[in-house]
Amino acid sequence: MPAHAPSPARITDTDLAFQRCINPSCAATLPVDRAVFSCPDCGDLLDVVYDWDRLPVPSRLADFEAKWSRRLDPLCFSGVWRFYDLLPFAPKDRIVTIGEGQTLLRPSDLAARYVGVDDGNLLLQYEGMNPSGSFKDNGMTAAFSHARMVGARRVACASTGNTSASLAVFCSATDFGFKAIIFIGSGKIAYGKLSQALDHGALTIQIVGDFDDALMRVREVSDRLGIYLMNSVNPFRLEGQKSIMFRVLEAMAWEVPDWIVVPGGNLGNSSAFGKAFQELKYLGLIDRIPRLAVINAAGAQTLDQLVGTHRMAWNSGLPDESISKAYYDRLDLEHIRASTIASAIEINRPVNLKKCLRALDVCDGVVRQVSDQEIMDAKARVGAGGLGCEPASAASVAGAKRLREEGIIAPGDRVVCILTGHQLKDPNATVAYHSSDREEFDRVLGSRGVKRAGFANRPVVVPNELDAIIRTIGLYSDPSA
Ligand SMILES: *Cc1c(COP(=O)(O)O)cnc(C)c1O
Ligand SMILES: [Zn+2]
Repeated sequence: MPAHAPSPARITDTDLAFQRCINPSCAATLPVDRAVFSCPDCGDLLDVVYDWDRLPVPSRLADFEAKWSRRLDPLCFSGVWRFYDLLPFAPKDRIVTIGEGQTLLRPSDLAARYVGVDDGNLLLQYEGMNPSGSFKDNGMTAAFSHARMVGARRVACASTGNTSASLAVFCSATDFGFKAIIFIGSGKIAYGKLSQALDHGALTIQIVGDFDDALMRVREVSDRLGIYLMNSVNPFRLEGQKSIMFRVLEAMAWEVPDWIVVPGGNLGNSSAFGKAFQELKYLGLIDRIPRLAVINAAGAQTLDQLVGTHRMAWNSGLPDESISKAYYDRLDLEHIRASTIASAIEINRPVNLKKCLRALDVCDGVVRQVSDQEIMDAKARVGAGGLGCEPASAASVAGAKRLREEGIIAPGDRVVCILTGHQLKDPNATVAYHSSDREEFDRVLGSRGVKRAGFANRPVVVPNELDAIIRTIGLYSDPSA
């Protein structure tokens, strides 16, 4: 709860849930049924906040498990709305759900050894199991519920791919008259994701530019045409994404891990995780908060630069914004564009920067950047360990390895890495890594500075002859091993 109480004159609504400007020196409030997505007084980000004292919150997290036995009820089946009591901004009869959040937390000892922690201590939270194949569905179900609450029909987003895929799925899978409008940058979207937007019937607008350009445009267009904006500047999305942490805790029998490691793009996830833990602690449902590590790709390292090099910090809600402004001015001046194989985090102007600074403050967090080489190697180890993820997701595992090498993560720490999206989102990157065709490798990965494929599992080319095939199998696989 903020240090500065909002001045009473600004309070426009005293409902159980409302929106509030994150800037404590403003703290303007708005009713929950408005869809403006920035503070009307100062332009800052908004939070969804609750009057917890007047809300029915279970006294123990384990009480949520009872919902499993009622999973014919869609609100109990959903891995987001099973935790309705922890994000109660919408009436239950307005909720839009497509069965999101049926995810898995699984230890991977292959990944544990790669990272350098003890067997059993590296846990992968696999969000690729969502209906559209990424964690974005957790946020979309919440934002669509809000859109339905406010009577919106046309919904839009700018996207590096997964937000648009999720938005398209939610529009096409539901019967509330939603129309999807998607803005993407040119040549900046992985094929798996583009194919989803097209297949699910979204109006797909490709502009000349990158994600940062597309986001600026969609905000203008939504403003002008009164279209509901689904990017993560929308605070309702973050409410849904809190549930990723609730499910992690659930899968750990409500024990808090030592570390949550997450890739950082627009910083919605990291912000949501910080809010989740802040609220759980406030409600007395957990007794300690895990540390948070947010991992940038080296080609899109704004957060790492601002926090690591320029020492930008939450500072009780008043971060020194001259630091980020100077940084963005330099990006413009030098025409620096985000560039990484991890297209989902190829973002240089993260909209949730300030909320992420708050999350880092709440969770005693750290930020690192990892190269595309480290990302692709980590991805191959994750895959060999049984879970297929897209490049951006593997930044979490690469980042954990880095932090372990620096001694910040200890071998005995329990580390949860978030695998944000499915392997099939970006098959090109995977195939290029494992390819024996050097040209293919260079075209997709070499151009990103990836030099080696240390964990490649190359296809073996054999003549179409029985003896040759049998000899090859003998050569490559030992039946006694
Ligand atoms: C959107 C996305 C991210 C980045 O998440 P933010 O909340 O924007 O930081 C990372 N990985 C995947 C697969 C994504 O789709
Ligand atoms: Zn404000």
